Amino acid sequence: MKWLLSLTYPEVAADLSSRRPVCRAPLRLASTCRCWSTEVRWRWTSCRLLNSNVGPAALPAAPVGAERARLPGRAGAEPPWPSSGTVMAAERERQLCFYRQLPKVELHAHLNGCISSATMKKLMAQKPDLQIQNGMTVIDKGKKRTLEECFQMFQIIYQITTRTEDILLITKDVIKEFADDGVRYLELRSTPREEESTGMTKRMYVETVLEGIKECKEEGLDIDVRLLIAINRRCGPAVAKQTVKLAEEFLLSTDGVVVGLDFSGDPTAGHGKDFLEPLLEAKKAGLKLALHLSEIPNQEEETKILLGLPPDRIGHGTFLNSADSEELVLLVRQNQIPIELCMTSNIKTQTVPSCDKHHFGYWYNIGHPTVLCTDDKGVFATDLSQEYELVAKTFNLTRSQMWDLSYDSINYIFASNLKLSEDGLHSFLDCCSMCILVSG
Ligand SMILES: [Zn+2]
Repeated sequence: MKWLLSLTYPEVAADLSSRRPVCRAPLRLASTCRCWSTEVRWRWTSCRLLNSNVGPAALPAAPVGAERARLPGRAGAEPPWPSSGTVMAAERERQLCFYRQLPKVELHAHLNGCISSATMKKLMAQKPDLQIQNGMTVIDKGKKRTLEECFQMFQIIYQITTRTEDILLITKDVIKEFADDGVRYLELRSTPREEESTGMTKRMYVETVLEGIKECKEEGLDIDVRLLIAINRRCGPAVAKQTVKLAEEFLLSTDGVVVGLDFSGDPTAGHGKDFLEPLLEAKKAGLKLALHLSEIPNQEEETKILLGLPPDRIGHGTFLNSADSEELVLLVRQNQIPIELCMTSNIKTQTVPSCDKHHFGYWYNIGHPTVLCTDDKGVFATDLSQEYELVAKTFNLTRSQMWDLSYDSINYIFASNLKLSEDGLHSFLDCCSMCILVSG
């Protein structure tokens, strides 16, 4: 196994031998059994990926094992905005091939923002009476959408997703698209919505999303999907309390599908301290917390208060490391709180001026847990493979470093109820032998 790997992928093999642990899963199996099943599948798939699926042309160009501390940013690197012509498109797709095959974890995906142009067109075709000015033009623009047009996309989405059947359709389409992109574990997040005109209640909304997740599972899609119920800060603390109650009920009744709570929405609306009570209540009830924090500058006070909870993951954290003091960074590091990073989203919404200035570089350099995510893949016309490629290109990371980044993100998932079965144990042991052969 090792010689085969060395011949075909010398850089990856050398990198694995020199610095990767043989297999960390047994420790977890002995202690908490945390997510072992996902790890087994992941490890197995990764071994297979390294050994057979990617040709020599896919070898990383940068030197092996570049230290994080020396990680350079590529000045002026921009997201892969449209390339013209079919040749360039084909070349882009070839470059993306490795990342499409890489098994990935997506932990920051807002259901409504993830709706693709194709799904939007399906929904619009079902509602011919709906008058949406320039709707099709904006949808067809894809990556060329301006920030204003991205906001317009959210408005269109709001108008075309008023019925439970719409919610079922978008949930299933979004899950299928993530699966097609090589995402093997997905945490979707969504704010429960009520719609008087169709009689949809918040409870019905959540139930429909869960139905979509269940149907995808029954259809055999190779993706494990969980749900975070979202608090929109614009709706205020009273609604947040109701949302927590609803989330608590679903936490108890869905056998681990609803795993946590998202705190998001307009970062200028309200103050984080007003949401402490419901967030603490949620934490006590066993819901994991993923909080959008420091998305805009000068929110140190609010961020510090919310970091005191502490959250289980941070969304964006764009300005955590640019505050006057290092206090926020210290708090995040002390608690080892993973940060969900969404590069294209930050560039499109103009909270980060260019890719090379993205805070991924800072957190990765200091070895802090980070996970690459898409945020709103439909609205920002991206997918997780493109985000991986963009980060690799911007910061000159090798494919084995990107593989590590993807693998490590399993540590930050919220699911914890995957059960040990005898079959699973065999796969687990087979996998370990394989990993030992590969890396030892
Ligand atoms: Zn977000």
